[in-house]
Amino acid sequence: MAENYYYGSRGGSYHQPESGWGRGTGGARGYSQARGDPDTGRGGRGRGRGGGRGRGRGGGGGPPAGLRGRDIGLYYAQRQKESQRESRSVLALPSGEQGAWQDVLRRVSALAPTRPAMEGGHQFVDAWHQNIAANRRADRISTQPVNSGLTPQPELDESLQRQENERDPFSVMGLFREKLPAFAMRDELLLLIRRHPVVVISGETGCGKTTQVPQFLLEDALLNGRASTTRIVCTQPRRISAISIAERVAQERHERLGQSVGYQIRLESRLPRERGSILYCTTGVVLQWLRSDPNLTGVSHIVLDEIHERDLQSDFLITVLKDILPRRADLKVILMSATLNAELFSRYFRNCPMLNIPGFTFPVTEYYLEDVLEMTGFRIPSQSRKASDKPEPVWHKHTKRGKETARASDAFQDYVTPYIRHLESQGHYSRSTLDSLRLPESEEINHELIATLIHHIHAHEKSGAVLVFVPGWDDISKVNRLLTDDGPYRLRGRVKIFPLHSLMPTINQKEIFSRPPEGVRKIVIATNIAETSITIDDVVFVVDCGKIKMTNYDPKSNLATLKPEWVAEANARQRRGRAGRVQPGICYHLFTKSRAMTLDKFVQPEMLRTKLEELVLQIKSLGFGKVAPFLSKVMEPPEDLTIERALTMLRTINALDEEEQLTALGFHLSKLPMDPQTGKMVLLAAIFGCVDPILSVAASLTFKDAFMIPLGKEKLADEKRRQLSRGTKSDHLLLANAIQEWEKARSNGSNRDFCWEFFLSESVLRMLVNMKQQFADYLCEQKFLPSSNYKAKSCNRNSSNEALVRAIVCAGLYPNVASLKMKRRGPVRIPSLMTVTERRVSIHPKSVNASESDFKHPWMVYHVMMKGNSVLVHDCTEISPMSLIFFGESLKLKNEFLSDGTALESIQVDPFVTFNCSRETADLFKSLRAHWDKLLEMKIIKPDQTDWDTNRFEGAVIDSIIRLLSSSPIGDSVYDDDE
Ligand code: ADP
Ligand code: MG
Repeated sequence: MAENYYYGSRGGSYHQPESGWGRGTGGARGYSQARGDPDTGRGGRGRGRGGGRGRGRGGGGGPPAGLRGRDIGLYYAQRQKESQRESRSVLALPSGEQGAWQDVLRRVSALAPTRPAMEGGHQFVDAWHQNIAANRRADRISTQPVNSGLTPQPELDESLQRQENERDPFSVMGLFREKLPAFAMRDELLLLIRRHPVVVISGETGCGKTTQVPQFLLEDALLNGRASTTRIVCTQPRRISAISIAERVAQERHERLGQSVGYQIRLESRLPRERGSILYCTTGVVLQWLRSDPNLTGVSHIVLDEIHERDLQSDFLITVLKDILPRRADLKVILMSATLNAELFSRYFRNCPMLNIPGFTFPVTEYYLEDVLEMTGFRIPSQSRKASDKPEPVWHKHTKRGKETARASDAFQDYVTPYIRHLESQGHYSRSTLDSLRLPESEEINHELIATLIHHIHAHEKSGAVLVFVPGWDDISKVNRLLTDDGPYRLRGRVKIFPLHSLMPTINQKEIFSRPPEGVRKIVIATNIAETSITIDDVVFVVDCGKIKMTNYDPKSNLATLKPEWVAEANARQRRGRAGRVQPGICYHLFTKSRAMTLDKFVQPEMLRTKLEELVLQIKSLGFGKVAPFLSKVMEPPEDLTIERALTMLRTINALDEEEQLTALGFHLSKLPMDPQTGKMVLLAAIFGCVDPILSVAASLTFKDAFMIPLGKEKLADEKRRQLSRGTKSDHLLLANAIQEWEKARSNGSNRDFCWEFFLSESVLRMLVNMKQQFADYLCEQKFLPSSNYKAKSCNRNSSNEALVRAIVCAGLYPNVASLKMKRRGPVRIPSLMTVTERRVSIHPKSVNASESDFKHPWMVYHVMMKGNSVLVHDCTEISPMSLIFFGESLKLKNEFLSDGTALESIQVDPFVTFNCSRETADLFKSLRAHWDKLLEMKIIKPDQTDWDTNRFEGAVIDSIIRLLSSSPIGDSVYDDDE
């Protein structure tokens, strides 16, 4: 239809510029002709395209006579710039509406309050001002002593002491505990902790740090009548380990959860009694407490577990604790780490004492890839890539990308190749093995090889569980499929296979720990979660594929990457250790011995590998003052540029002001348990009355989407997702639809069938719905919503207005904007994106837009952009230009002149997003936008449910925005790229 027409009409009209912002098409010429008749944007546009073609590459002939040398170059550069400007999207009101909109604007302006309604005395404003004052003082290194809030209660002490004394010291569990290496160090440990505020404990995994150390502290307190002043908190980096460990410890104490032992993770808790107890929780939970209890006065002992993982939150908490300690003389901090980089932590706490628990592990035999190939006879196919994977392009060494690729292949050349020559000269390995090793593909993950090795172990080795480490969920499912589906790799016989992943439903986890019946072999396929935080006792064989999924962030390009990378030496050692827990074991590394020598010692801390927006917001909301000085106190501080990027982003979405103070909006966002962009989306959803769908989007973006990766049915699953997206061209509206349909299905009992049909995970959906409730509670508590029932009519006045919901998604994901163009690839047309930093971005094949060709607008917003083999956006939503006018950064009117003297009027949202637009229309947009900005500021400072009465300012502004968004003023269509 229309699109075909445009497509035809602009066949050769527009030459894609080699660089810069060119996007969409349309004609400035068109606009300048339309100017005489501002109401006929559409007509003007049509003509404009013709004009644009005239100016395009064919038009105008060569440079004027008389130009030479450099000037000719300049002439063409200028021409190109102009052609880009002319070819911007055109924004105009539908024909004949300009006048009516002028009337709307006049009415809204008349209703605008003269004085901003923002006096003090309001609870939110007071808290916000206090926060600003705290950040200004920024002298939080005050050493004014603060005491624990746990006042002694002699009666409680006595009764708990009596209870503890009555315990059976010879119980099975008691005897088990005494055998753990940690037990031998008990007294030394307690003495050290009594004498020093900070102690670092290290020890082999399984020696009893996590389960025993908090118990020692608890028993010591109970037996010595100090129960009422003892509240032990032990942090875990993962939700699932917090639960499973709490359960284990309760069991060891012959109790149920909720007495002396409990856990707390987001949205789920079994709290223990307040005093004389141990709470296992995620690090995030403690960071949350800091808001109301900045000196952690409710805690006597804080045990930070698994600190060697160096995740962002635990590095942050360590920094905060160092700050708190001078004030809390009675606080005990215990840092526990599995691998031996204990010195680093000790140094950070002024050389605090370290204690190593010597572990018992049985010897573990190590085999490398060369041995595995030899013993299994497996041959790596030289074309192991599937036909669909394109070969890696050749990168020039001077580009960053080229350098990385070059480095990887250099290592292969420098270490692996000579090593293979060495093996060859020894003559211990067969021709087939040596041929396989020579292929660079031998360093890639090969699921068939993993399956073959498992077969080998099952057939030839003694009994004992097998633990397989792979990088991610995809690999787990692929190996699982090979072993269970009909085919050459199907594992017959008595085996029990467990996939183990941090986002798997909790119920399935318990069976993993227990020993299978005699003669049955347990095979666990896991990510690095099984390295330290989860101990499976009966493992005898470990398969280590040597790769780990790592996110990285490059502040220069402002791009995240996610790819499997080589593990660090510490990981490899840790993985090996898992095989020797109960008897001598075997570890099979699926990389060569030469590759092992090139591994880094430790993984890089997450703080150095990630964007910092959320952390920065957290720092501000906790009142730690200027961000850069605070972050310089971290053990290994992030790069200045990364911090600067985060500050800039937060300023762009108006969460921080120029003085780096939280704005009212920023103060709200810092309280919402999600990233600031998603937080903004949620607040706007409340204001615009489209709560239910947007909370679904927000929950999914914050946790994970509920779609599973179905085994062997990827195509069907894609199809089902597209079906659920109902033609919205939006992965985000798809998320909302999925949850909505599931909630519907649940009410008539067909939820299981629904999940089955659409490949959805019920446990994730349940979690998402809980999160939606949590968000709604906050919005209601802050008075943005009339009810905390996010399904209530009053919260969803506009939920079925798709244009609006889409615009709110845009508001939340901004500034992640991309322009869209169709590219021809053979007979098909596929969408291709460009962003402010990346000229060539593809859409992830899982996205409903990946194979879409019929778009209305040349604009998209996205949540995740990652660089793997190419730059991909994982999820995207088509948006209208109007959403950018209201929810982009800010509006600037511009007036440019082309070299032939024609004026070109435009409206700029940010340096990437500019529309050609008549001055009259642009003025109108700018004025309405100014009213909206004012309204938003008022709403944020004085949250209140939306006043929909269009006879008042608020109702009138919101109504006009909604009408403009849904009447869809003319933006530009999407055009094919000329190629
Ligand atoms: P660490 O923290 O030093 O790695 P843990 O305290 O987690 O060690 O575990 C100590 C021992 O307790 C393990 O070696 C294992 O034998 C046992 N254990 C831990 N968790 C469980 C569990 N959920 N089920 C059965 N045994 C467990
Ligand atoms: Mg542990």
